[in-house]
Amino acid sequence: MDCADCTRHVASALSALPGVHKVDVFLASEKAILELDPEHVTLPMIRQAVAAAGYSVPEPASQAKDPLTAQAVTFSRKVLGLFGLVFGAVLLFVVLGEWLGVFKKMTAYIPWHLGTVAVLLAGFPVFINVVRAALRRTIIAHTLMTLGVLAALAVGEWTTAAVVVFFMRVGDYVEKFTSERARRAVKNLAALAPQTARLETEEGEIEAPISQVKPGDTVVIRPGEKIPVDGEVLSGLATIDQAAITGESMPVDAGPGSRVFAATLVRLGSLRVRVNHVGEDTTFGKVIRLVEQAEARRAEVQRLADRFSSWYLPIVSVIALLTFLLRRDPLAVTAVLVVACSCSFALATPIAIMASVGASARRGLLIKGGKYLEALARADVLLVDKTGTLTLGKPHICEIFPAAGLDEEYLLRMAASAERYSEHPLAEAVRKLAEKRGTSPITPQDFTALPGLGVKARLEGKEVWVGNYQFISESLRVSQLGSAGNEPDTALFARVRELEAHGKTILYVSIAGQLAGILAAEDALRPEMPLALEETKRLGIEKIELLTGDEERTAAELANLLNISYRASLLPEEKIAIVQQYQSAGRIVVMIGDGVNDAPALAQADVGIAMGAAGSDIAIEAAHIALMRDDWRLIPEALRIARRTMNVIKVNLAFTAVYNLVGVSLAALGILPPIAAAAAQSLPDLGILGNSSRLLKQ
Ligand code: ADP
Ligand code: MG
Repeated sequence: MDCADCTRHVASALSALPGVHKVDVFLASEKAILELDPEHVTLPMIRQAVAAAGYSVPEPASQAKDPLTAQAVTFSRKVLGLFGLVFGAVLLFVVLGEWLGVFKKMTAYIPWHLGTVAVLLAGFPVFINVVRAALRRTIIAHTLMTLGVLAALAVGEWTTAAVVVFFMRVGDYVEKFTSERARRAVKNLAALAPQTARLETEEGEIEAPISQVKPGDTVVIRPGEKIPVDGEVLSGLATIDQAAITGESMPVDAGPGSRVFAATLVRLGSLRVRVNHVGEDTTFGKVIRLVEQAEARRAEVQRLADRFSSWYLPIVSVIALLTFLLRRDPLAVTAVLVVACSCSFALATPIAIMASVGASARRGLLIKGGKYLEALARADVLLVDKTGTLTLGKPHICEIFPAAGLDEEYLLRMAASAERYSEHPLAEAVRKLAEKRGTSPITPQDFTALPGLGVKARLEGKEVWVGNYQFISESLRVSQLGSAGNEPDTALFARVRELEAHGKTILYVSIAGQLAGILAAEDALRPEMPLALEETKRLGIEKIELLTGDEERTAAELANLLNISYRASLLPEEKIAIVQQYQSAGRIVVMIGDGVNDAPALAQADVGIAMGAAGSDIAIEAAHIALMRDDWRLIPEALRIARRTMNVIKVNLAFTAVYNLVGVSLAALGILPPIAAAAAQSLPDLGILGNSSRLLKQ
């Protein structure tokens, strides 16, 4: 497939098969993904359908024809192509020379039937596609050109027809080159993963293709080599350049227990790694797959362009017919048909999007489709989660304050044991402190975690709750939080207010229905965040709002510091509702979260951006855009890339529209002769390529 129209043809041929439910055809990766009923559809049927549409499914490498034959075929094709090119160039030279009056009637010495045969032969590969399409009752871009060639031959202008055919073939190459260029951004990415691994076996180390490596195996990586799998370091120390995944080339250290990722580079040292994931299951493999499939999530402008390009050919046919009826000039008709023949409309959007998605992936910004680039370019509301998003998400406990009559050790021991099975960063902070102080944990029974609230568990027969104010108040047999009739622990609550005013998060602990004390957690802001937020505002995001499950005062502190608005004490489902509110007010909402507990809100937003995606399946799956490295500077960058992409697309479309309009008008009026029209026809593709390749370098 070398032009976006092709994907449509292949897709319609495949979806016409009985038993095929859904088809996605990808131009950039030259793949098709089918959802089908295996009882009705077989691989040979799929091959046949694709072949009937004029394309082919390459044999899997192992079953390919013997390489010599294949080589011979490509070689003879190349020779033929080259011959045609040289012959065409000479002819062009002669014809142009005659046209300009430099040569005298040289072509007149060639009999017209010989010329006609030569034209038909040279254009054969194109004509055959046109005939195939006609049999399927569709017209393709080349159909018009073929009609143009036939019109020229009919009036005996075989030299004109020859030049048109020459440029038709040149145009094909340009188009092939153009889409190949765009495709390369994706292919280059895939080439970053090594294809072999040094496998540790009983007979020693052997070099094995990656397809033979299985989870549980042990592989060895030497200095300067790329890690072939996702896995865990068994032994060795190394510094690793993770740029292939995170876009960040600042090396990180790895030692026993560290997680390492496929396609990253061991700079110094060597490692023995236990394999967890191989090939498509690795984080890198998932990134590649998503980038390849980014085309499927089409931007609205692309739909528009596609719809237009399906109208385009009929419109041009009508103009050609009118030209014929009004001006009775077959050469003008030829010129109209020839100049209008270009895939540029179909190419204008996907090329720009492929270029941007590919370039972004290289810098650690995984964009799952044109749709999200478009939404991002138009976004006006940015909602951000707090823990793990604005903050580093690695809180530590900075204070323990037991209720009157209890001691710190006991409070910490109970809290850490209740938090034993929670994956929340706050739980980890509590456990870490308990470990540091050497308290012995109790194995909890009946553990329950309530997202956005806290945890409860039974410890040595006692109910222990750890969580926020709202949560803990439910656990208390009699309210000890300062309501009427109860003497609150005044010293404790005075301290709570102080801590909250300094932006600390308070974890309340209750034991057997009694308030047992609090732990205060401190989580540092991401250092690059304030500047990145400023820049985001400058890029025209009108509203930035902090959404957090944390308490009012803690949130207020942070929001004031950053000069943004906030809403506190939110449950995960309330975050979704807020996203929906903004959306129904016509706003385009970007939501940034750390992926795991924010997944539903991320999915609801027009663009959900997940932090910390490297290695986290949920973040990669749930979000529309994933930041492979936790760096806020990628947010304004994503906004900028999105806007630049949309601008490039608009310029591409406008350029193509104006070019074709002017070209067709001049041709219809007889000002643009067919030969010039043929030469002009491949220019829009080059223009689009040139304009879009700005995106590759961003
Ligand atoms: P955020 O919206 O800031 O990412 P969450 O929704 O994860 O925060 O949690 C909201 C609040 O619920 C936390 O600030 C904390 O007070 C409480 N909480 C949630 N999970 C736990 C837990 N495992 N232990 C203690 N408190 C928790
Ligand atoms: Mg969070």
